[in-house]
Amino acid sequence: MMPLLDPSLIPVFDEVVARNPGETEFHQAVQEVLESLGPVVAKHPEYADAEVIRRLCEPERQIIFRVPWTDDAGRVNLNRGFRVEFNSALGPYKGGLRFHPSVYLGIVKFLGFEQIFKNALTGLPIGGAKGGSDFDPKGRSDAEVMRFCQSFMTELYRHLGEYTDVPAGDIGVGGREIGYLFGQYKRITNRYESGTLTGKGLSWGGSQVRTEATGYGTVFFVSEALGAAGESLEGRRVVVSGSGNVAIYAIEKAQSLGALVVACSDSDGYVVDDAGIDLDLLKEIKNGHRGRVSDYASRRGGTARYVAGGSIWDVPGEIALPCATQNELDEAGAASLIANGCRMVAEGANMPTTPAAIRALREGGVAFAPGKAVNAGGVATSALEMQQNASRDSWTFEYTEERLAEIMRSIHDRCLETAEEYGSPGDYVVGANIAGFTQVADAMLALGVI
Ligand code: NDP
Repeated sequence: MMPLLDPSLIPVFDEVVARNPGETEFHQAVQEVLESLGPVVAKHPEYADAEVIRRLCEPERQIIFRVPWTDDAGRVNLNRGFRVEFNSALGPYKGGLRFHPSVYLGIVKFLGFEQIFKNALTGLPIGGAKGGSDFDPKGRSDAEVMRFCQSFMTELYRHLGEYTDVPAGDIGVGGREIGYLFGQYKRITNRYESGTLTGKGLSWGGSQVRTEATGYGTVFFVSEALGAAGESLEGRRVVVSGSGNVAIYAIEKAQSLGALVVACSDSDGYVVDDAGIDLDLLKEIKNGHRGRVSDYASRRGGTARYVAGGSIWDVPGEIALPCATQNELDEAGAASLIANGCRMVAEGANMPTTPAAIRALREGGVAFAPGKAVNAGGVATSALEMQQNASRDSWTFEYTEERLAEIMRSIHDRCLETAEEYGSPGDYVVGANIAGFTQVADAMLALGVI
């Protein structure tokens, strides 16, 4: 699909494509932001004069390293590790680590690029980064995951620090992995530097609500958006893709606000449960045994139906929350959602909706809210974890959740105000991209050509 870019931005985009060949997800993420920036470059020639946009599209530092480790059978395995430290104009680099076989430089760059604007939107002092590995934790023993994490950190530690770069989790990296990573960091450096990693356990420097934050924040954003139209989640039929960290806590918060969540999924298929997803059962299967949603259907019996393969977007729902992975909601999925009366899509995952699907949803009258605003509650709560670590304090669940809710409210309002200011009232994509961009761009101008 041809980018709809302001003519002055076409050479910038062409340069990104030429300098980063084959990195299609990164091109897609850049295109999506640049498409919103036409009115900004018209109003602020100073950004072009200082080449702010070109500089923003080039990571400050890209680290690629070898990760050798030994499996339980004594065989030596080899993976590749990445950390892209994209932009530190607003604070130390901040962004998660993803362990998934699909990880390569283009995925890490797309995630790191998105992270810059997302982190800016939180209003907290954090720059943007992302990292990970093509390691697949699925089917690996705890001991294998530990040895992998230790090897990964043995290289990465030299690039980290609470004032430099602070990773967290993402797909395939949860509390277990953060524990092994932090343990190795502490061992190598001989420093208990809690503020170097977020997503830690509650008894060793973690924050209340960090586990729940991305999913809860997603639903807080949806509530704000519905509230702006005088509506609420009460009684709404909701479809959530994925069944990992983000999906589970999005389901939990949506249910607590009175929604009926009828479907969730994993990469093998999806489950529909018209009586509403039994979250205790789902958590037991996923967290306890790292099981599949097919297990949910067989254990739940009666009301639940499992569909292998297929598209979860065929399940009718008024609100759809893609919470699994990039490009999981395509044009056909969007057409199904529209045909089934969906009214809002809010991205819990990063870039889960393809550009063609976004266009189809907007043309079909479906409200659309992008991940960099909707799922920013995760990184925002990571920044709250850093605050607690810096002050050697720990806050209550209630207080931390209230802070999260406030941050999501402010992100929501800032998106709407910015969209209005730049002539696209109600457009969350334009609002999120411009509000995030201008904050980082102004800091880059102030800091000079560095
Ligand atoms: P998890 O690893 O906990 O869960 C990921 C879920 O997505 C699993 O159900 C997984 O199914 C499914 N999934 C992964 N890859 C694919 C694929 N290729 N096709 C279909 N389904 C897939 O990750 P998170 O919940 O942490 O992350 C989900 C999304 O949210 C990602 O886009 C992530 O970047 C984003 N995000 C996460 C944040 C966080 O705090 N964790 C913060 C902000 C954004 P299976 O088990 O079959 O692989």
